[in-house]
Amino acid sequence: MADHASGAALDVPDLAIELGALFADAGHELYLVGGSVRDLLLGRDVSDLDFATSAHPAETTKVLHGWADRRYFVGVRFGTVGALKEGTRLEITTFRQEVYAEQDRKPAVTFGRDIETDLGRRDFTINAMAVWLPGGELIDPHGGAKALGARVLDTPTDPAIAFSDDPLRMIRAARFVAQLDVVPAERVIEGIRAMRDRLDIVAVERMQAEIDKLLVAEHPAKGLSLLVDTGLADVFLPELPALRLEQDPVHQHKDVLRHTYAVVERCEPDLVLRLAGLLHDIGKPKTRQVTPEGVSFHHHEIVGARMARERLTSLRYPNAIVDDVCTLIELHLRFHGYGEGWTDAAVRRYVRDAGPLLDRLNQLTRADVTTRNADRARRFAALQDELEERIAALAEQENLEAIRPSLDGRQVMERLGVPPGPVVGEALAYLLDVRMERGPISEDEAFVLLDAWGKERGLAG
Ligand code: ATP
Ligand code: MG
Repeated sequence: MADHASGAALDVPDLAIELGALFADAGHELYLVGGSVRDLLLGRDVSDLDFATSAHPAETTKVLHGWADRRYFVGVRFGTVGALKEGTRLEITTFRQEVYAEQDRKPAVTFGRDIETDLGRRDFTINAMAVWLPGGELIDPHGGAKALGARVLDTPTDPAIAFSDDPLRMIRAARFVAQLDVVPAERVIEGIRAMRDRLDIVAVERMQAEIDKLLVAEHPAKGLSLLVDTGLADVFLPELPALRLEQDPVHQHKDVLRHTYAVVERCEPDLVLRLAGLLHDIGKPKTRQVTPEGVSFHHHEIVGARMARERLTSLRYPNAIVDDVCTLIELHLRFHGYGEGWTDAAVRRYVRDAGPLLDRLNQLTRADVTTRNADRARRFAALQDELEERIAALAEQENLEAIRPSLDGRQVMERLGVPPGPVVGEALAYLLDVRMERGPISEDEAFVLLDAWGKERGLAG
C-alpha cells in the first residue's frame, strides 16, 4: 500500500463522487473520511459513508435538497447532517476542531478551518485519512495507509494527550484491535496504562457502544486481552481480570480468563450470546473452594448470573439483554447433568426454561467445552448431539399429538353408524384438514362437522 495512493486505486462509491460534484458546484469542499476511507483501503464492506465538509449544516442541507431521499437532523447541533440515498446512509459533518474542558463528559466541538485540522483531531492514524471528492485523491497526513498496511494502530499525536482528551479512544483502540486485527503501537499501550483512570469521565452509553462492537467483531479475544493487559478493564469490568485465577492450583491448568476468551470466540457473533460467554464464569472467583479432592465452584452459575445483572445494569444495558444474558449464565451448567440420563420430562423442562434462548444455550454449552482432551471433547459433543436430537424428536411427537383430529375412529363409527372401512379414514382425514385450517377443535364442534359431512354422503347421523 502506497503512502499516497491515487483515487484510481481506490474504489470510491459512485454516490460519493456524485455528491462531491454537487458540493463543488455549490462552492464547498467535500471529503470521504474516517472509517469509510479505512474500509475502502482494506477492501472491507463500506455500508455507511462518512464525509467532512467546509460547508456549514444549513448549506449542506441545501445541497442535499432534491438529491437525498431523506435528510436527518439529530446530530445537527454537533455539525452533522444525515442523509439516505438509494439505501445508503450518509453522514456529512462540518470540519471540526475540538476544545476540551477538563472534566467534560462530552468534548466540546467547534468548526474547524480545513481538512488537515479535522484529520488531526481523529482518534487513530488509520481513521485520519480523507479522499477528496469528486477527484478521488487520498489525503493522508499521518501515514494512515502505511500503518494500515503494516496493521499498526497508532494515534496521530501523543497517545497520552489523545487519551486524556477523550478517554473513550482507549476502548475504541481495543475495538479496532478486535475488528481489524491491528496491533497497537507500544506507545499506545503505554498511553492506555497511564490514562486508564480517566475513563471515569466517559458517558457509559458511549462505552457500551464500543464494547458491543468489540464483542461481535472477528477477533474479540484480542480486544479483550488488550483491555485486561493494560488494566483498562479494571476500571469498567473488574470481573474479567479477576478471572486470572488458576482453575486448578495443583496442575496449574489454563486459567479461567483464557478459557473465557476462547468461549467468546467460539460463540457466533451475536451480542447476547457473546456477553453470556464473556460473563459465564465470573462467579468462579467468589465460589472457589480448594479441598483435598480438588477445586470446586459450587453454584457459580447462580452467583455469576447475579453479578452479571449488576454489572450489565451499571453499564446501562437494556433490560431485555440483561435478562437474556443472565438466563443463559444461570442455565449454562444444566446440560452437564444430562450424562446421568434425563427423562423426557427433564428434556421438556430444559426446553421450557431456555424458552427462546434454546439455540443460544446449546451454543454456549458447546462453546464452554474448551478441553484439550480430545476424548472428553468428543464425549461432550456426542451427548449434546443426542440431547438436541431428543429435543427435536419430542417436539415433533408433541406437535403430532396436538394436531390429531378431535375424534378417534371408534367415535366416528359410532356416530355415523358405519363398520370399519375406508369411510372412517376419509372422515378422520376431513376432520384433520379442518383442524389444520382452523386450529384446535373441540369434541362437540367435531361432531357437528362430522354430522354435516355424513349427511352429504347420505350416511345416517
Ligand atoms: P465503524 O465502521 O464502526 O463505523 P468508524 O471508524 O467509522 O467505524 P465511527 O465511530 O463511526 O467509527 O467514527 C467515524 C470516524 O470519526 C472515525 O473513523 C474517526 O475518524 C472519528 N472518530 C470517532 N470517534 C472518535 C473519537 N472518540 N475521537 C476522535 N475521533 C473519532
Ligand atoms: Mg462509521
